[in-house]
Amino acid sequence: MTITFYGGAKTVTGSNYLLDSGEIKILVDCGLNQGSKYSEDMNYEKFAYDPAEINFVFITHSHTDHVGRLPKLFKEGFRGRVIASRPTIDLASKALPDNLNIITEEAKREGREPIFELKDLEGVLELSEGFDYEVPIDLGGGVKAILHDAGHILGSTIVEIDFEGKKIYFTGDLGNPPTPLLQPPFFPKDADYAVVESAYGSRIHEDRSSRKIMLENVIKETLSKGGTLMIPSFAMERTQELLYELNQFVNHNQIPKVPIYVDSPLATNLTEVYKKYPNYFNKTAHHVIESGDDIFNFPGLIFTRTSDESKAINNVKGSKIIIAGSGMSMGGRILHHEMRYLPDPNSAILFIGYQVMGSLGRRILDGEKEVRIFGEKIAVNCQIRAIGGYSAHADQAMLLKWIASAGSGGNLKKVFVVQGEEDSSTILAEKAKTDLKINAVVPSQGESFEL
Ligand SMILES: [Zn+2]
Repeated sequence: MTITFYGGAKTVTGSNYLLDSGEIKILVDCGLNQGSKYSEDMNYEKFAYDPAEINFVFITHSHTDHVGRLPKLFKEGFRGRVIASRPTIDLASKALPDNLNIITEEAKREGREPIFELKDLEGVLELSEGFDYEVPIDLGGGVKAILHDAGHILGSTIVEIDFEGKKIYFTGDLGNPPTPLLQPPFFPKDADYAVVESAYGSRIHEDRSSRKIMLENVIKETLSKGGTLMIPSFAMERTQELLYELNQFVNHNQIPKVPIYVDSPLATNLTEVYKKYPNYFNKTAHHVIESGDDIFNFPGLIFTRTSDESKAINNVKGSKIIIAGSGMSMGGRILHHEMRYLPDPNSAILFIGYQVMGSLGRRILDGEKEVRIFGEKIAVNCQIRAIGGYSAHADQAMLLKWIASAGSGGNLKKVFVVQGEEDSSTILAEKAKTDLKINAVVPSQGESFEL
């Protein structure tokens, strides 16, 4: 078996790995390359292999940088099977049309064709098949696969492929337990090879035991002044985690009763998917649901779908909480609310996610007193708050623990460190070599290894 790294090598996004036994060709992930633009130019390049020859594509989870080029693969001739967890396929079928809209708009601005069309998206979804965790999947030719829980977002998987008496594990994105909704990630003990993410390969997360208390405090502080609390949030997982925590606050009368808006059609659609898979949640969340509590619904919660409903939020007098995308204020409905409430000293903006350099969210977080939104100068007088600890990625300590476990059976021959900036991947690989005495490499784009 040969493995080739066609994406996600020395970079965070664009995951795309090919296993080739000569008889059978398996891809793991087919992600979009994302950087300062939603879709980078390199997504326009043809795949370096023939998509028509691929038998299986495993999708580790429904984030765009893992699934976003799947319709393009179909466009270039792929007609094999797509295998993922059941929630992953469900979430991807909601998120990919949203991706297509953004990709199409971006392409239109640049005067070129989008990288795929609706018919490619529909075509590839028809080839998709959902599995539960821990179910053996026979791929033929003596090759088997199993999906394990990665604890990163709903339905995220660690993909195990068994071939020639050997096992290779792909972490996909590895979770950061404990999380409000998910189970901790699976820890293998019998790996021969592992392909390990490294988004936080050089960093240790701050303690997050207090994040729920901090959230409660920010809400109370803003509402006591009669202000509006804006929370820019990613539509997938982060929004559902927030709703779960807000549900608890409301049920236990911990915060004043004010309207809470989820002003994002995508987040609303994805939340509907979350409701379908209570068995994928951790024991505590599952127990709350069993007791009859609808964890994504509570008095005062309003999902606004249409843009008229969104605009009407502005006319609601008094305190409120608004959760809207995008998570880094790089677009989306949050911008309209920021225009209105950033100048208000009684209101607040709360950041719960990483804000990339250059994003509007980062500029506000860094304390700029005036920003531009839709060409207008907007004064920033509101309170600015940030809570760390919402990261959905394992940090360096957790990644090393996972690698140590994978090698505990004594068979681990090589770890391939991927899905990180080069520095981050290199530091993690060095740590694995020095601290764990495990052979680790940072593959380059297009590089192949014999397994
Ligand atoms: Zn992810």
